[in-house]
Parts: sequence; structure tokens; C-alpha cells
Amino acid sequence: MRIIIPIKQVPETSNVKMDPETGTMVREGVESIINPLDLYSIELGIRLKEQYGGEIIVVSMGPPKAQEALREAIAMGCDDAVLLTDRFFAGADTFATSYTLTKAMEKLKPFDLIICGERATDGDTAQVGPGLAALLGLPLSTFTSRIELEDGCIKATRLIEGGYEVLSLPTPALVTVVKEISDPRLPTLRGKQKAKKLEIKKWTAQDMEADTAKTGLKGSPTRVVKTFNPKVAREGKLIEVKDEKTLAQAVDEIISLLKEKAAI
Ligand SMILES: Cc1cc2nc3c(=O)[nH]c(=O)nc-3n(C[C@H](O)[C@H](O)[C@H](O)COP(=O)(O)OP(=O)(O)OC[C@H]3O[C@@H](n4cnc5c(N)ncnc54)[C@H](O)[C@@H]3O)c2cc1C
Repeated sequence: MRIIIPIKQVPETSNVKMDPETGTMVREGVESIINPLDLYSIELGIRLKEQYGGEIIVVSMGPPKAQEALREAIAMGCDDAVLLTDRFFAGADTFATSYTLTKAMEKLKPFDLIICGERATDGDTAQVGPGLAALLGLPLSTFTSRIELEDGCIKATRLIEGGYEVLSLPTPALVTVVKEISDPRLPTLRGKQKAKKLEIKKWTAQDMEADTAKTGLKGSPTRVVKTFNPKVAREGKLIEVKDEKTLAQAVDEIISLLKEKAAI
């Protein structure tokens, strides 16, 4: 199996700051990590390779710093890595990101499976996986929690409201995964040594024959018009319970409140 895994390097989320001018996230000087759900994609890829053979290539669109994330993926057990880096890619929204990744996938053909995380912790839109599948014309399974190969197809089990759905996808296909899919392993010492030595390929827009009118801020229809911290106005009433008597009163009060709100 030839598996491609797009991964995103994201700011470590404990102290996210927004730039009041541009309305976008301040990324300079902030510690970066591999997008947590992409660790589950990588683990799934490695298990499929262990079961069916083949190779895994990790791809990331980002600044040169994103090589750290790619090396971590190699240390976990992936075989090769490509960094898509170019000033024409800066400021890309999900549409421009999906287009740029599509050009990379076209250059990496043939492949059997693309594995994306269901969402990234910074944009948090869950749009890039489906966007990539649409632009490449691939069958898609989102929220995928289980994968098997059956009669040359990808048998994907995905979470839906109230249960599961099982899809049979002809290859090549694209899946986005949720945490239930695997349990990420830690990088091995041998993996870390390999990651240190690996020459990571760097592709520009020109290398991929990408139209720069469709990449970066220029190719992004999204405009951040305003960012603000929403004020959560909690209307509430404190009902104190001291003993059996006040407990009974409290229950009555809560029931009449719920009736008032037509909640019961
Ligand atoms: C106006 C504007 C400016 C922005 N400027 C920047 C910026 O300068 N730098 C920046 O990093 N972000 C920037 N962003 C955010 C960026 O658009 C999104 O983070 C990116 O498009 C991915 O969308 P998402 O985070 O919602 O990913 P999701 O759709 O939630 O991600 C799902 C999956 O898609 C794949 N994926 C997502 N992004 C990448 C990637 N870059 N490389 C490889 N695989 C990927 C991964 O498998 C991931 O698990 C900007 C957004 C806007 C609207």
C-alpha cells in the first residue's frame, strides 16, 4: 500500500494569542506541535503498512519550521517526507490549503490511501480532508474509527449520529480519522536516528506547477473581518440546599423553573 499522510504543525494551544490587526493567530515565537489528531493518522498508516506492506509519505504545507513535525512522523515509523514551503503559500485559508495539497498529491501519484486527521486544533474546520477528496475526485470517509482492506477496497467504519456507518471505498480513497482509530506509539530510537539523517524534500509552487493565484492569501476567499471573545451571559439563580426541607423546596423550584422554560 502506498499511503500519503498530510500533517499540520499547529501552535501549542495553551497560550493562543490573536493579532488584533489581522484577526489571525499569532504564530511567531509560539511553541509548535504536530496536530494531535495527525498522530492517530500516522499510527494508522504504520499499522496498515505492518499488515499489508508498502510505504508511508508524510506531507506538510508550512514554514521551514514545519520540518520538525515531519521528522517526528519519520521517527514514529513513516518512510519519507515532503515539505510544501513557499512565500506564495502564506496566509492560506482551508480552500487554498486544499488546493496546494492537491498539487502535491498529483505529484505523488500513484497512491492507494490518503489519511487526514478529522480536524486541526488551530483552524478547527475539518474542511481540508473533504476539500482534498473533492479536488482529487476521491471516495471519502470522514470521522473514520476503523479500517480494513476487503476485496481490494477500503472498508471504513465511521461515526455518525447515534451509531456507525460502514462504507466500502474503491482505492485510491481518502479518510479522515478520529481518536478511536488507534493509539499512537512513541518514536523509537532507531526512528529518531533515521529522522535526523533524512533529507526532507522541499517543494515550491513551481515544483508542483501550482497556480499561485490559487495559493496563500491570494487564493483564499476567507477574510477575517473581526475577531472577538464572545461574552457568555449566564442568567442564573443560586438555589441553596441546607437540609431535607430546603432540598424539597429546591426540587420544586427547579421543576417550576424548567416548566417555565418549557424544558419539561
Ligand atoms: C485569513 C487566514 C489566514 C491564515 N493564515 C495562516 C497562516 O499564516 N499560517 C497557518 O498555519 N494557518 C493560517 N490560517 C489557518 C489555516 O487556513 C488553516 O489552519 C488551514 O487551512 C487548515 O485548516 P484547519 O486548521 O481548519 O484544518 P482542518 O481542516 O481541521 O484539518 C484537517 C486535516 O487536514 C490536514 N491539514 C490541514 N492543514 C494542513 C497543512 N497545512 N499541511 C498538511 N496537512 C494539513 C491534516 O491532516 C489535518 O488533520 C489562516 C486562516 C485564515 C482564514
